[in-house]
Amino acid sequence: MAKTANQAENAQLKDIISHAKEYGFVYPSSEIYDGLQAVYDYGAYGVELKNNLKRLWWETMTRLHGNIVGIDAAIFMHPTTWKASGHVDSFNDPMIDNKDSKKRYRADVLVEEHAAKLENEGKEDEAKALTASLARLLEAEDLAGVRDLIVNTGIACPISGTTNWTDVRQFNLMFSTQVGSVAEDASTIYLRPETAQGIFVNFLNVQKTARMKVPFGIAQIGKAFRNEIVARQFIFRMREFEQMEMQFFVRPGSELEWYKQWAETRMNWHLALGTPAEKLRKHDHEKLAHYANAAMDIEYEFPFGFKEVEGIHSRTDFDLKSHQEFSKKKQQYFDPEINQNYIPYVIETSIGADRLFLLTLCNAFTEEKTEEKSRTYLKFHPAIAPVKAAILPITKKDGLPEKAKEIVELLKYDFNIIYEDAASIGKRYTRQDLIGTPFCIAVDHQTLEDNTVTIRHRDTTEQERVSISELHGKIAEATSFRRVFEKI
Ligand code: ATP
Repeated sequence: MAKTANQAENAQLKDIISHAKEYGFVYPSSEIYDGLQAVYDYGAYGVELKNNLKRLWWETMTRLHGNIVGIDAAIFMHPTTWKASGHVDSFNDPMIDNKDSKKRYRADVLVEEHAAKLENEGKEDEAKALTASLARLLEAEDLAGVRDLIVNTGIACPISGTTNWTDVRQFNLMFSTQVGSVAEDASTIYLRPETAQGIFVNFLNVQKTARMKVPFGIAQIGKAFRNEIVARQFIFRMREFEQMEMQFFVRPGSELEWYKQWAETRMNWHLALGTPAEKLRKHDHEKLAHYANAAMDIEYEFPFGFKEVEGIHSRTDFDLKSHQEFSKKKQQYFDPEINQNYIPYVIETSIGADRLFLLTLCNAFTEEKTEEKSRTYLKFHPAIAPVKAAILPITKKDGLPEKAKEIVELLKYDFNIIYEDAASIGKRYTRQDLIGTPFCIAVDHQTLEDNTVTIRHRDTTEQERVSISELHGKIAEATSFRRVFEKI
């Protein structure tokens, strides 16, 4: 029987997940205890790739822009922070349980997935009407209405197949814990659900100490935690994840110009990293959050469809104003150019490091099949590839390992290098393809005579003979962040 498009997509995601596990990129957390849902660990090559992606983002922000600096705020914050930001009262998702399967779902996602199914069946008007009804009910916070919509539309639980649903309830996504050793004195604090608030509460500290003038930005990379109701699709939706956020503070009235500019800059960043334009799209938010006056997502076409990778939001002065109210500390900036005090407006760019990782993996995963052979390799941009070069003596004898190790010494201070001398050279090439190493450097008997080696290129499998003295320069040229920066 022919596979449906959906099955093919799931098969592709399955292949990527098992590749990620088998070749040291991503494992389920605490796997020996059968894992912990929606929590993952990064392996030997995964951590290198993730670090490279984070470093590239960081350097794009802080080095390419003289008016952006970084911070590293704590995960725990004063609990009032989350009152002021609105998270305590409204960082909720509507959840619903099926009484027969006992499975829990996000009510809005159930409806959206049903609408997508209708659309696939060509029933576009029905799909549109359904999403419009959902938006209306959510806007009015009419949870009973959302349940009626699910039941009346006949949306059934994918596991039990029944429409025996509970009421819809709001579920706050923040994890809480206690600080203080004595129970009576302990107070509830939260694991931050976004890194942005660490930037807002430090706005004046940074502005004064780094002597920043509006417009300026503050960048941060760090962990965030959300008790997601439905955690599926591998590292796309996790309960513990990493965000890379930049808040850009601007003069009130200029925010929409800056919003447009940042949307374009961020899209160019994804393109510069080699993500094909047809796999990326902008999605403007129809329903804006209470604090935003413009918002969009950059979406990537994952095997399970176009989904958000990065959000770009014009957050007005909502956060700083709210912190000023709750903390009773002025959050104003004196603008010497116009001789005025004001609370700056903010443009935010926010991307999940793990989602970017998944994008990168999906994009790199390449299977080539010809009649004679098939080859799987990870076509990472060399600047972010976990290992830059593998040094491979073709035999373990005749002084070749020693010569190869001299080359390792030459390169290891600047590049992540692998040395391997076991198995046939073909098998070793295959292994490097599977982890996405752009260059394999074979050391043979000729190397001992004339100090030349063979470079085998991952994407073309072409080989070239070069002198050892050229290696450092060639690898540096191909893997430099400059190659990405120049295209932004
Ligand atoms: P979604 O609609 O997918 O839940 P969101 O709109 O809640 O995402 P934001 O709050 O805008 O996401 O967070 C900014 C970025 O952080 C997202 O674009 C995404 O890359 C990342 N992110 C958010 N939630 C998660 C998660 N549970 N797991 C991994 N990454 C996440």
